[in-house]
Amino acid sequence: APLTPADIASLDWDKMNGLLPAVVQDRASGRVLMLGYMNEEALRATLDSGLVTFFSRSKQRLWQKGEKSGNRLHLHAVHGDCDNDSLIVFADPDGPTCHTGTISCFGDVSPEVAGWLAHLSAIVRQRASSDDPGSYTRELLAQGSARIAQKVGEEGVEVALAAVTRDADGCAEEVADLLYHLAVLMEMKGFGWLDVIDRLKARHSTASNSTAAS
Ligand code: AMP
Ligand code: ZN
Ligand code: ZN
Ligand code: ZN
Repeated sequence: APLTPADIASLDWDKMNGLLPAVVQDRASGRVLMLGYMNEEALRATLDSGLVTFFSRSKQRLWQKGEKSGNRLHLHAVHGDCDNDSLIVFADPDGPTCHTGTISCFGDVSPEVAGWLAHLSAIVRQRASSDDPGSYTRELLAQGSARIAQKVGEEGVEVALAAVTRDADGCAEEVADLLYHLAVLMEMKGFGWLDVIDRLKARHSTASNSTAAS
C-alpha cells in the first residue's frame, strides 16, 4: 500500500543517516525521471502537499522540485522498498524533470511498450498546438470528430482484414495505424491511456471468469 504520514516512523532512517534515496517514476509512462533524497521532513512535506519535495544535499534545505522552474512533480503515491531504506515515487510531471530540459535526468532512455504509447500521446498533444502545416496529426485534429471517427473505423476494418489475409508483420502494421489513430481520437476527446487502463483493470477484477468482452 502507498505510504501515509503514519508510516514515516517505520522507515529505516537510522541505517541511512536520515536520508533515503527516492526514485521518481512517471506514473503514466513508467519512465524513471530522477533520483533524489528525502529526510523525514521532506517525505512529510511530499505527502502533505502532494508535490514531490526532497532534502537538497547541496542546498542543505527542503527542496520542492520545480520551486523555481515550475516543473513540479504531482504526487500519485510513494512506496517503501523491501527493507524500508529506499523509496519509489510515482508522479505526474508538469514539464521536463531535469534542469537540463530533458524529460528524464537519465536522458532519452528508450521507453518500453506502455511508455511508448504514452510518448505517442505526448507527441500527438504537442502537434495539436503546433502550427506546422505539414503535420498530418494537426490536420486530423482540426477536421473534427467525424473525420477521426471515419479513420478509426477504416483502420479497425483494416486490422480485421489483416487478421484473415496477412501474416503477423502485416497485422502489426495495421495495429500500429489503428493505435496511432486511437491516440488522436483520445486527444480530441480529452482522455488518455490511463483512463483506458483503469477500465481494463476494473474489468479484470470484476469479471475474472468471463472469456470475452463485447
Ligand atoms: P527546480 O526545482 O526545477 O525549480 O530547479 C531548481 C534547481 O534545482 C535547478 O537550478 C538545479 O540546480 C536543481 N535541479 C532541478 N532539477 C533537478 C534534477 N532533476 N536533478 C538535480 N538537480 C536539479
Ligand atoms: Zn532496500
Ligand atoms: Zn537532471
Ligand atoms: Zn491502415
